[in-house]
Amino acid sequence: MKSYRKELWFGTETRRKIIDITSDIEACLEESGISEGLCLVNAMHITASCFINDAESGLYGDYEKWLEKLAPEKPYSQYAHNGFEDNADAHLKRTIMGREVVVAITEGRLDFGPWERIHYYELDGKRKKRVLVKIIGD
Ligand code: ZN
Repeated sequence: MKSYRKELWFGTETRRKIIDITSDIEACLEESGISEGLCLVNAMHITASCFINDAESGLYGDYEKWLEKLAPEKPYSQYAHNGFEDNADAHLKRTIMGREVVVAITEGRLDFGPWERIHYYELDGKRKKRVLVKIIGD
């Protein structure tokens, strides 16, 4: 069995941003040389997420509105976690959106269902953060 590991870095200029990273993961898969196996993609930070869904701008906006209803960013004082930090909402949003995704690899390709794309969701940006890609198989 072969094993491949890579860290991808992302830096956003805004506090929150959704980025379609599917082509980055496809490049990793190509680099790995693995054609049958599993691909794990996880945010390496507790205020960022990886998720799979449609790459559609309306849906991106809907996530923003939905998450703001569940865990509004402001007022910062509403959260016990905020004091030295102001990112309690980002921790909560990360828990909802998830840490990682796993995709099957079949015949050298990411084995997606219709419209599935891999996304990185920055929830407390304006700094560089990492995504881990781990691929195992043959
Ligand atoms: Zn925090």
